[in-house]
Amino acid sequence: MIPPAVAYLSMEIALDPRMRTYAGGLGVLAGDTVRAAADLGLPLVAVTLVHRSGYFEQRFDAEGRQSELPAAWSPEELLEPVSARISLGLEGRAVHIRAWRKEVEGREGSVPVYFLDTDVPENTAGDRALTGTLYGGDERYRLRQEAVLGLGAFALLRALHPEPPRVYHLNEGHAALLTLAVLAEASLGGNAAAAGAAERERARAQCVFTTHTPVPAGHDRFSMALVRDVLGEELASAIEANGCAPDGVLNMTHLALSLSRYVNGVAMRHGEVAQGMFPGYPMNAITNGVHAVMWTADPIARVHDRHIPEWRRDGHYLRYAITCPLEEIRAAHAEAKAALLDHVHRGTARTLDPSVLTIGFARRATAYKRADLVFSDLERLRAISRARRLQLVFAGKAHPRDDGGKDIIARVHAAARALGADLAVVYLEEHDLELAKVLCAGVDVWLNTPQKPLEASGTSGMKAALNGVPSLSVLDGWWVEGHVEGVTGWGIGDASATGDPVLEVTDLYDKLERVVAPLYYDRPLAFAEVMRSAIALNGSFFNAQRMVEQYVQNAYRLKEGAA
Ligand SMILES: *Cc1c(COP(=O)(O)O)cnc(C)c1O
Repeated sequence: MIPPAVAYLSMEIALDPRMRTYAGGLGVLAGDTVRAAADLGLPLVAVTLVHRSGYFEQRFDAEGRQSELPAAWSPEELLEPVSARISLGLEGRAVHIRAWRKEVEGREGSVPVYFLDTDVPENTAGDRALTGTLYGGDERYRLRQEAVLGLGAFALLRALHPEPPRVYHLNEGHAALLTLAVLAEASLGGNAAAAGAAERERARAQCVFTTHTPVPAGHDRFSMALVRDVLGEELASAIEANGCAPDGVLNMTHLALSLSRYVNGVAMRHGEVAQGMFPGYPMNAITNGVHAVMWTADPIARVHDRHIPEWRRDGHYLRYAITCPLEEIRAAHAEAKAALLDHVHRGTARTLDPSVLTIGFARRATAYKRADLVFSDLERLRAISRARRLQLVFAGKAHPRDDGGKDIIARVHAAARALGADLAVVYLEEHDLELAKVLCAGVDVWLNTPQKPLEASGTSGMKAALNGVPSLSVLDGWWVEGHVEGVTGWGIGDASATGDPVLEVTDLYDKLERVVAPLYYDRPLAFAEVMRSAIALNGSFFNAQRMVEQYVQNAYRLKEGAA
């Protein structure tokens, strides 16, 4: 086996809707990264957890309250077993780990993804459940789970390959404990606590870290008492010796920052925000991207195949979508819209009108994403829709313990009831890879109203752009870069780093009423030009191929490499 150059670690990786190993954007991004690496023939392996119990299946009651159904899936049916066995010492006893593998095939190569699994008979019942539930359990469960990911990935890779990878890429802080294993390997006698400056430099040379959110709850913290109890004295001392536990609390982001040679945020604006949060570490930025072939709906893909067949091999060619005939783009979009309305009908028995301006919003339901912002003034919205009809399609899951997120879902349902026949609003259950694709391609405008500056990047608007669906979005995350007013879509509010919700609501309604709806209804060819520019200007850049190429050039730098 060729030794992998890059080992990519992520708590969630979304590969297949039947494998419920992801909760949202982070996992989808990791999946797109793996697919793009396989396309490029990059020698990369990925490691994640198997999450056997599955991220839940979503249901709503009559009031729109979310409930969660278990969604266990069977790795035995969808993955190949790996014969290597490893074990870790956690809480003073051995935790045994096996792994499953899925080979992700791309154009120029393939990438193995390993799923760590503690559900083996040698383990205690508690340990068997450690790779069961994504973002579940209490603090102790989370720390043990992150130990399985970080330390388990390191051990598995050493069991599979005699040579270490040149680079470990930590996709978010959940995998940060890996840095301690790297440090131990770089240290005399394998004792990370004894590491000096030279050993730390050797470890840092091997690690790259991507931080994904400015939201504080997204940065795991564990008390050092818990860390000592779970990881043992040696690793706990190493954390303290590194200065990663000020005030007796381990911050996983600080650990990853302190032991990585390259760190980045996931959009240019997020890089600036992250730099402000962590002033001690030089922060870079590599803007996220989505897998172009995977996220382009069939009717649009057929237009590209006719005019720019190279796009399947190289996303840069999407730039030349600017020459595609507008009528073909309109016809392809109408097909994608019909597929969405059909999906809505099958899921909800509601019949939406294909001639009506249809606005989409689908992302994790959590407070800062503000799915309900568009309902701030129902009278105004009703008036807009009376003059120029609108309909709205929503999707998105709230984490089972995110009551704020569940309240937002319920408020969207309440607004839908209040608006009644004046404006159709549907909320679809079960946001997953499949639904996301149908939605992003099938609506006419993609709405995004996060609270600034908390949207690090956002990727669903990129999926929409690839399909010729322009965004109407607050200027945060990727949209700061992707937005050209009236050309690729429309901004909401001003360009400042912190938003004003009152101004944003007014601006959202003004734009809908005076710009977007008139363009859609009165000047359909001018609207189609915006659609086409969204593909040519944004689809050609905000794709995973460009993103992975930027990681290779800026972060991995395999030629100079480590050691
Ligand atoms: C793309 C995607 C997301 C992320 O959307 P954001 O715009 O980044 O919030 C979440 N869930 C699913 C299923 C997706 O496909």
